[in-house]
Amino acid sequence: MKITCITVFHQDLPLEHPYWLSGGRLKFEVLDATFVRIDTDEGLIGWGEGTPWGHTYVPAHGPGIRAGIETIAPFVLGLDPRRILDVERAMDLALPGHLYAKSPIDMACWDIAGQAAGLPIAELMGAGSRTPRPIASSVGAKTVDETRDVIERYRARGYVAHSVKIGGDVERDIARIRDMESLRLPGEIVLYDVNRGWSRQQALRVMRATQDLNVMFEQPCESLDDIAAISAKHAAPVSVDESLVTLQDATRIARDGLAEVFGIKLNRVGGLTKAARMRDVALAHGIDMFVMATGGSVLADTEALHLAATIPDANCRAVWACQDMLTTDVANGRGPRNIDGHLHLPKTPGLGVHPDEAKLGAPTATYTLP
Ligand code: MG
Repeated sequence: MKITCITVFHQDLPLEHPYWLSGGRLKFEVLDATFVRIDTDEGLIGWGEGTPWGHTYVPAHGPGIRAGIETIAPFVLGLDPRRILDVERAMDLALPGHLYAKSPIDMACWDIAGQAAGLPIAELMGAGSRTPRPIASSVGAKTVDETRDVIERYRARGYVAHSVKIGGDVERDIARIRDMESLRLPGEIVLYDVNRGWSRQQALRVMRATQDLNVMFEQPCESLDDIAAISAKHAAPVSVDESLVTLQDATRIARDGLAEVFGIKLNRVGGLTKAARMRDVALAHGIDMFVMATGGSVLADTEALHLAATIPDANCRAVWACQDMLTTDVANGRGPRNIDGHLHLPKTPGLGVHPDEAKLGAPTATYTLP
């Protein structure tokens, strides 16, 4: 089987509500999504998606994906999409780094490989838990009252896991954490996501002031150096996501004991192939995982769900459904959707959901085998 054509589509995905991160430092209203269709000489078609969380969140942006694919495409055309390690190596040779630009192609190849094998991607990867995965909400609010409102909105839709965005103002953060913990229901999963919004000193002040609550903080400071510098000075469990980009990051975090949880974002780390190695590093070191797309439609959510299904149930904390934050739906209701706050792994071979191509408009680029 050979890749004969790569077709690229650009789509803006507006957020239903404006969204703030890092204590109001970063605001988001629309996501720049890239959808990739890969055709093969045997008629199988695979779809991938790459949707960074805006341009300001981390070093990844929508136009960068499309530029990256323009560079990568000549090296990938003609390869067998089922030989995903060959495709990965060809992409890494054509364009070192730029992992987020490669993830849509990786995803489309896994989609084709699953269809060719007659297996959902998770089963092709060797597992495929059917335990529904709880969806973590994204509570991008700023005040105690706003936090309560947003949590109630998510609870009404069945959510049992919440990622509460904090950071930036120590006293306000402590107040919001204490208030949220007073409202936390039995069995509810709550993660406090700082999104790099604290200095080392600010992190220690909040962590020490909330020590009695034993809550988990995600990405408390800017870098792994910062997280390492404070790690012996507090007792709070830590999750790392924005500083988890490469396999080398994963091995450092595991070796140095910098986090209890990996937040693996599929687009950020370059797709399923590279993320699966992070999963294995985590499992080898007793580290649990949150798995999610960086952002995007039901396609991106479904890719993350497949990886989540390859993690033992006890080690998979939650997934995410960015689709619930968007005003557009490229797949017209198909694919895994929120059912009582959980996503259910598709049973169909491959990814299990494709977009409605008519909704994507004209392609921005088409690359074909000469
Ligand atoms: Mg996070």
